[in-house]
Amino acid sequence: MIDFKKCEECGANLEQKIQDRIQGAFCNQCKKWVIVTTYMPAIFQDTTKYKMYLCSADSNNKEHIKALSQIANINFLQAKRMIK
Ligand SMILES: [Zn+2]
Repeated sequence: MIDFKKCEECGANLEQKIQDRIQGAFCNQCKKWVIVTTYMPAIFQDTTKYKMYLCSADSNNKEHIKALSQIANINFLQAKRMIK
């Protein structure tokens, strides 16, 4: 049986890690993934439809525009127009 706690190449302890959309065992010494599976954050498995309300935002504030574009999944210019 393979020991998933140690790197097969260098014998170092493997670190359980999640990065972007992958999870698995990572060897910090070899700087590589040893075992990898897809990681799907709970938010992406949620099929509930939500309604959002924009209460106040400043169309000259880049952080407000960026936040709205990320949440609403629209580009920067669309978000800026939405705030005005
Ligand atoms: Zn290693």
